[in-house]
Amino acid sequence: MQPHARPHADARHPVSAALRAELRSRIPAGRVLTHGPEYAKAVALFNAAVDVRPSVVVRCATTADVQAGVRAARNHGVPLSVRGGGHDFWGRALRPGGLVLDLTDMRTVQVDVGRRFATVGGGALSSDVVSAAERVGLTAVTGTAGAVGMVGLTLGGGYGPLIGQFGLASDNLLGAEVVLADGSRVNTDADHHPDLFWALRGGGGNFGVVTSARIRLHPVPTVVSGTVLYPIVQSADVLADLAGILHDSPDELTVDVGFLPGPDGKPTVYVAPTWSGDIEVGDAENGPLRALAGLGTPVMAEIGPLARSATLAATDAMFPPGRMGAIRTRTVRSISGSVATVLDRAAREFTSPFSAIVWHQFHGAAVRPPLGSTAFGRREPHLMVELISLWEGEGEDNAGAGDDRSRRSRTCAGWKSCTRRSSRSRCRGAT
Ligand SMILES: Cc1cc2nc3c(=O)[nH]c(=O)nc-3n(C[C@H](O)[C@H](O)[C@H](O)COP(=O)(O)OP(=O)(O)OC[C@H]3O[C@@H](n4cnc5c(N)ncnc54)[C@H](O)[C@@H]3O)c2cc1C
Repeated sequence: MQPHARPHADARHPVSAALRAELRSRIPAGRVLTHGPEYAKAVALFNAAVDVRPSVVVRCATTADVQAGVRAARNHGVPLSVRGGGHDFWGRALRPGGLVLDLTDMRTVQVDVGRRFATVGGGALSSDVVSAAERVGLTAVTGTAGAVGMVGLTLGGGYGPLIGQFGLASDNLLGAEVVLADGSRVNTDADHHPDLFWALRGGGGNFGVVTSARIRLHPVPTVVSGTVLYPIVQSADVLADLAGILHDSPDELTVDVGFLPGPDGKPTVYVAPTWSGDIEVGDAENGPLRALAGLGTPVMAEIGPLARSATLAATDAMFPPGRMGAIRTRTVRSISGSVATVLDRAAREFTSPFSAIVWHQFHGAAVRPPLGSTAFGRREPHLMVELISLWEGEGEDNAGAGDDRSRRSRTCAGWKSCTRRSSRSRCRGAT
């Protein structure tokens, strides 16, 4: 059992004998789970606040398993969901009383070095893809964390440190094998089922079950990246300078900015640049990254060349699974004075050492495709702000949780006039 699995993970919704019989007739024993440690492992998600009990988990190993699961759910009128990396904050991998297609055993990654693409299983993690590509001098466009499902990320658009140079993760989807709602299997790409291919690139997870995906790779196994932390008292000056730097940054430079509790627990401004161009240029003493360590007097500055897999592992270590969590997202055009002021105030009220506020930069190749060329809903330079509340301990009545919730509400109310709801389709459930 995962360390964060809840102790009473038995199904509250009994599975009907007829559904059980149909699944058992098509899927090997041991892969149809209604209770026990393997069931508990499958329903334990990144966000431990998700407390949803499906009636049955189908641990899929093949496309045929997925087809059998889809048909069984349809035949018996049971809600269906798909579990990849389990990192959706709202827990959409599970539905109460539903049938879960658990893809965590479908994690193969095959790299075609010459044609620079990977064929990945529907449950492959971002770190699986990056590690396999890295071994042959390539990488994939992913988010910041390795434990996020590669397909789940891609279906929602997929922002991350390489998007300025290579576009969103979904812009790097070359094709997919998909099981549709009637259980049939299709292969889609720009020339085959183009409507489906359009929808998969940023439209979210409801168009079918992706059993494998072809992902474009790039010859950037190493980047120059790091983290600079400034005391929050310097935030006004640091953020004002950053607004200009982000506005003019080249495609190779993507910078995440935000507020985090520092090593002493006090809030800090953090600046996390990634340079995906020439290493010597990015790592130069007078280069674009070192300048980011000179915006004030940092309490910490670590910048240097790093394998992509190591950057993902560092984020995974910061955001381990099993904490309770809640998130809101908003879109802003820039780190304007008013946005910076509202967020600075919010950061000073952090009640949990795990919470964070993060601006993600959308620019360059991520915003050049014409709006409408894929399902992703915003193709203009912008920043997506995440208000992330994470806390440890059970229960909605946890004191830290309550404080954090009211802080999020106050913050969102305070900046309504300068923001828009995020266009990320995965965030449509944001409250
Ligand atoms: C710590 C953390 C860091 C994150 N960082 C980033 C980031 O840097 N960039 C970014 O863009 N997002 C990021 N996300 C958000 C993440 O990309 C989305 O929540 C994504 O949907 C997670 O996919 P998953 O497979 O891990 O999640 P799951 O919870 O397993 O799946 C979520 C939903 O995705 C769909 N899905 C997943 N796999 C398939 C499949 N094979 N076929 C069909 N549908 C599928 C289903 O609808 C499923 O319900 C982060 C989330 C967390 C918790």
